[in-house]
Amino acid sequence: GFKMGIVGLPNVGKSTLFNALTRTAAAQAANFPFCTIEPNVGEVAVPDSRLDKLAEIAKSKQIIPTRMTFVDIAGLVKGASKGEGLGNQFLANIREVDAIAHVLRCFEDGDVTHVEGRVDPVADAETIEMELMLADMESLEKRMQSIVRKVRGGDKEAVQQERLMKAAMAALEEGRPARVVEVDAEDRKAWNMLQLLTTKPVLYVCNVSEEEAAGGNAHSAAVAEMAAAEGNSHVIISARIEEEISQLEPEEAEEFLGEMGLEEPGLDRLIRAGYELLHLETYFTVGPKEARAWTIAQGTMAPQAAGVIHGDFEKGFIRAETIAYDDFVTLGGEQPAKEAGKMRSEGKSYMVKDGDVLHFLFNT
Ligand code: GDP
Repeated sequence: GFKMGIVGLPNVGKSTLFNALTRTAAAQAANFPFCTIEPNVGEVAVPDSRLDKLAEIAKSKQIIPTRMTFVDIAGLVKGASKGEGLGNQFLANIREVDAIAHVLRCFEDGDVTHVEGRVDPVADAETIEMELMLADMESLEKRMQSIVRKVRGGDKEAVQQERLMKAAMAALEEGRPARVVEVDAEDRKAWNMLQLLTTKPVLYVCNVSEEEAAGGNAHSAAVAEMAAAEGNSHVIISARIEEEISQLEPEEAEEFLGEMGLEEPGLDRLIRAGYELLHLETYFTVGPKEARAWTIAQGTMAPQAAGVIHGDFEKGFIRAETIAYDDFVTLGGEQPAKEAGKMRSEGKSYMVKDGDVLHFLFNT
């Protein structure tokens, strides 16, 4: 599954946000196996109104949303790359996630201590990015000698690795994250193998006060500007509001959102933004028993998409009976779509599209 790591300086609202995320997910998840895997790891349902619509049409007994994992990675402080705070553990945890949700304190509150004694989310973002860049430089330096030795020994793969490591190092030495390096398709795999922290996509989460949740404030505007310049994205959230919502019944929650001038919980936006950041898509399997959403990376071929359900589906893949979401909904279900000639039989070279309703045929 896909994993998003929640990072940020101490006291910015990470735990508040993480707890709200997992509690809301637990409440919504009466009919799917939700779990808090470890105290700091939680799975949340990806909100998708299309799934409810499909289930309604097919009269499915169960609705099973697709899920995303959030990891609360505490312990980043200035000096983490030098082993301060929970430094090394922290960095190891980040290596394992697919993307970073970077929580930034955008609320003023004299009662909540800021580690640097002032509210400045852009400077905070730089502090954390700097630690990640230092950690990347250190890990590259450690590996460089053995790579150079391998290159001298005539190792072809090492030549490619050395070239990519040098490109990453050049960017880092200029004070830029490794994600600014342009990487060709044929280098992509070797590049990912470097497992650099600053190649992970970043979603800035501006934690604002309750009153500012709808429109943000000057701090979140500064973050938005920074994110745009970097090609990263941002969302505005009040962790406090999310915490309160997570304790309300659905009707109460809706009313509360209305009072706050919000259309939907910030968590829904956060999860969706994470989904976009990771270039993920959803396909559906729909029947009378259940309607279910599945997550794939953009560009996934039909057999590999089938493999998300079960390895045997991929191995024995024959074809995928495919109905586009809009056709399924407009025509009123599988049978009418079929009669209208809107059910396509797709083979191994079919690239699955977001919203496809699929039925896999496979050899066992
Ligand atoms: P973490 O160290 O980043 O995990 O931060 P916490 O989630 O533990 O929050 C630190 C403190 O800030 C707690 O006392 C929270 O209640 C408080 N806090 C979190 N979000 C907000 C907010 O939006 N406004 C205010 N005033 N306080 C907040």
